[in-house]
Amino acid sequence: MYVTLTIVFLILLLLFVFYGWGLIMRRSGQTDDQEGEKCSLCRGQFPKDTLIEREVGDFKLFYFCIECIKGLANDAKQLSDHSHQ
Ligand SMILES: [Zn+2]
Repeated sequence: MYVTLTIVFLILLLLFVFYGWGLIMRRSGQTDDQEGEKCSLCRGQFPKDTLIEREVGDFKLFYFCIECIKGLANDAKQLSDHSHQ
């Protein structure tokens, strides 16, 4: 009885490991296919055509998502409001 249970448990464990491995493989494959980039501020993954691209120096590229830029614009507005007072 215990032997059977152990075998079933081992099989389930193996299935679980393979399932998890498959998920990881599929996820890493997806990020390659999608041409997505990470926003440099919030680290969220976005499609490249929804991100603003800025080059810093000769090789470093930064991407910013719309939400972060809105946040920056808000901050900039507050700064300019302060400087006018
Ligand atoms: Zn962002």
